This record gives sequence, structure tokens and C-alpha cells, in this order.
Amino acid sequence: MTQILDGKAVSAAVKAQLAKEVAHMVLMGQAPPHLAAVLVGDNPASKAYVGNKIKFCKEVGYKSTLREFPSTISQEDLLHQIALLNQDKGLDGYIVQLPLPSHIHEDKVVEAVDPEKDVDGFHVVNVGKMVAGLPTFLPATPYGITKIMEHYGISAAGKHVVVLGRSHIVGRPISVLLSQDRPYGNGTVTVCHSRTKNLKELCAAADILVAAIGRPRYVTADMVKEGAVVIDVGINRVEDQFTKSGYALVGDVDFDAVSLKTSYITPVPGGVGPMTIVGLMLNTMLAAKKNRPTRP
Ligand code: NDP
Repeated sequence: MTQILDGKAVSAAVKAQLAKEVAHMVLMGQAPPHLAAVLVGDNPASKAYVGNKIKFCKEVGYKSTLREFPSTISQEDLLHQIALLNQDKGLDGYIVQLPLPSHIHEDKVVEAVDPEKDVDGFHVVNVGKMVAGLPTFLPATPYGITKIMEHYGISAAGKHVVVLGRSHIVGRPISVLLSQDRPYGNGTVTVCHSRTKNLKELCAAADILVAAIGRPRYVTADMVKEGAVVIDVGINRVEDQFTKSGYALVGDVDFDAVSLKTSYITPVPGGVGPMTIVGLMLNTMLAAKKNRPTRP
């Protein structure tokens, strides 16, 4: 029978651990970790994501700051605000909630963030360090995936891993992490994208399948090997006449049929979803520890 990889339970376990670490820091006379979020405009999804991050901070005892700007802010002004955050010595890390309005170049903003405060792990310096296997802030969603794997004792070692998707924030970094010599890594990884041929056959040969393409229920049971581990990163809104809102959130995997064949599978929602914030909060703790003096 398949085991559900419960992101909410893993998140609760990490939360308890972080709360303990914060309490210890405070007991030692240190300031708790401080995370700021930059929110531009009033996109409801972005507001909800930022709200969840601030809620998590409160629950574990981090200090949080919300910097809100109108969608009309110029790129120059936003970069100025980023420079101020970089200079703020009382701040351990911050995130700029994406997407940004179309008149702002996201790449320019991401590259303006001080890599030492880039707790989303998006800056090219941190991406480079990750690829080189050096200690750094790992991108939040892939980091969260590795935490689920560790929690359930799943390792990619010696396994054939197939990653669907090659985006900078999910597909590419998780493919790197799972192929590296790390506790959960050492897999043999195939990365698939929209130009991949024989995608079905490749998926059907996977011991671990990570789906991050943003296509509702794309991965069907015939694409999955008996006993495979399936990690579904997708979050897709589909019409659903049986819900009050008229829509439902589904993953990139046809959960009902695929879960009959898997050994482990993440549900949507409640699988990878809660783990992105976990990755962010672990990075923020790492930043805070670097910034606090160590005792002799
Ligand atoms: P992107 O749109 O940036 O990337 C999608 C990738 O999938 C691209 O590499 C694309 O290929 C590939 N792709 C798309 N269609 C196909 C197809 N039919 N066959 C093969 N490959 C395909 O998406 P993201 O990586 O940002 O997100 C992926 C999903 O994960 C989304 O549903 C998103 O909502 C979700 N997500 C969830 C998070 C969480 O916290 N759980 C966090 C981030 C994302 P190509 O490069 O050739 O175009």
C-alpha cells in the first residue's frame, strides 16, 4: 500500500524544531531570526503566500517585517528599497514575492538582493554555490522536497530519478540536488521538458518521479512504475462543480489512479505545498546563525 508523504506533518515537525532553536537563541541573549517580505501590488495569491510566511514566523518566534509597495512603483525605486534592505543590519534575510508587475525586470531585482540575505536561494551566487556543492541557501521548494524525503527515509542513492520540468525554481535545482553526493542524493537523474521525446517511457522507468510542469493530472498511471516514489510539485486550479468556490487545486499527477501503484506519493494540496515555506524558514535560521556571534 502506498504511503502518503504528508507535508503538513513534516512542516509541523520542522516548526517545533525551529521554535526550540529560537527559544534557545533568546535564552542566550540573542535576537531571534528576522525575515522581511517585499510585496509589490495586490495580487491576491501573492498576498496569501506572504501572509502564510508571516504567520509561520509568528508561530516559531521569528521577527517578521512586511514591506508593501504599490504596483506602480518604478523599478528604480524598488531597487532603492532593496538596497536599503541589504544595508539593514538587523535583518537576517528577505524575500521579494514574485511575480512582479510587468514593467519591472524580475532578474534585475533578484540579482540586487544581497546573496547573504537571499533566503529564497534565487541569486546566481547561491545557485552557483549549490551547483558546486558548497554550503549555501538552497532554493526553497527543492529544499523542502529534500526535507520530506529525509523525514520519510527516502534516498535517491542508486535510483533512477526522472524530473519533469527544468525551471530555475523547481525542476533544475531538484535535479541537481538529487544527483549530488548528499544524504538524500546520489541518484541518476534524467531531466525532461517540453522537447523531450519518449517522455512516457522515461517516466515509466523512474524509481523516483518528480513532476513540476504545471499541467493538471498530466502524469497518468501508465506512466508510473509499480512501487515508484512520486513527488508532485504541481499546483493547478481546475474547475470543479462540487466545491463551493467552483474550483479545486490539483497536482501534475493523476493522484487517484497513480497512488494505487506507488510506494510513496505526495498529495496536492498538503504534500510539497507546505514545504516551500519550510525551506525558506530553514534558510532564515541559517542566515541568523551566521549573523549571531558564537560563544567561546
Ligand atoms: P514553469 O512553467 O516555470 O516550468 C514548467 C516546466 O515544465 C518547463 O521546464 C517546461 O518545459 C516543462 N513542461 C511544461 N509542459 C510540459 C509537458 N507537456 N511535457 C514536458 N515538460 C513540460 O513552472 P514551475 O517550475 O514554476 O512550476 C511547476 C509547477 O509547480 C506549477 O504547477 C507551479 O504552480 C508548481 N509550484 C509549486 C510550488 C510549491 O510550493 N509546491 C512552488 C513552485 C511551483 P520547457 O522548459 O521546455 O518550456
